[in-house]
Amino acid sequence: VVGVDLGGSHVYAAVIDAKGVILAQADADIDRARPPEQILRGDVAVTVRAAIVAAESRSGASPGSIAVKGVGMGLPGNIDRVRGICRFSPNFHWRDVAVAAPLQEELGQPVFLLNDVRSHTLGERHFGAGRGHQSFAMLAIGTGIGGGLVIGGRLIEGAHSAGGELGHITVDPLGPRCGCGNDGCVEAVASGPAIVRAAQASIAAGRGGALLAQAGGDPGAITPAQVASAAEAGDAEALAIFTRAGEAIGIAVAAVMTTVDPEVVLIGGGVGQAGELLLRPIREEAARRCRMVPAGATPVIPAALGEKAGLVGAAALALESLGLLDPVLV
Ligand SMILES: [Zn+2]
Repeated sequence: VVGVDLGGSHVYAAVIDAKGVILAQADADIDRARPPEQILRGDVAVTVRAAIVAAESRSGASPGSIAVKGVGMGLPGNIDRVRGICRFSPNFHWRDVAVAAPLQEELGQPVFLLNDVRSHTLGERHFGAGRGHQSFAMLAIGTGIGGGLVIGGRLIEGAHSAGGELGHITVDPLGPRCGCGNDGCVEAVASGPAIVRAAQASIAAGRGGALLAQAGGDPGAITPAQVASAAEAGDAEALAIFTRAGEAIGIAVAAVMTTVDPEVVLIGGGVGQAGELLLRPIREEAARRCRMVPAGATPVIPAALGEKAGLVGAAALALESLGLLDPVLV
């Protein structure tokens, strides 16, 4: 199958086998201001074909000889999986856009669509840290905070495809405005941009010398990875920023633990790469806030798929939808 990861500025596509192994991939910049139909029939379809050609040339197979059975695509936003429609995507400013149908027509392949982090959750269930677990929660900490929930061996989609949107749990009622319109979602408080804003505030207050050095003297250029480097080098200010972000995520994790008591909680995404810097305060805060589950009884551990998560997750969606994997989708 081909897994497609469509983000706000870039599209990645990979040919992936039934064991979740990437055979070849391709990618391209996209201009999200273009009409959706042009993005899908143009950039996305071209990138899918390029990935198939790359897989054929890598394997030494002749053109047309790799038998792709379908295409899975993860997309940020509220996705109607059954109808293949993007109901709302703040990243693209799309509302009620048909995504699967035009792509399916263009490629001559079945196309399956799901929210990107819900796809990632499927990928972790089949090929990653969720393997063997009947229930787990997934939080992907990056530019936003995406989520996914598997309960009783099934991905929770909910009545309005919003089940598992863990990044939009309120953790600070008076907190900053979130992209979703609410105030104080964990995404608004602890995602990558929130960590960058906190670092910039430290620099502006004269406490961010180590942070400024990491950013090469330009506060506008600072990244979450640089804040993590400063924290790892022992900078107290950077450590405090990660601790506050982890505590906010821990409040959301406690809410999830109290609601569904999962076997394990997975933390992924680019900011999640910070590892123990983030995991330790998440575990401590979750234990403080969730008293109905014994402290430490629910492992909070890194997700396993790393930067391949989007592609492998989208492939898992296609493989499952084609009946090639045990069903996690209802
Ligand atoms: Zn929100």
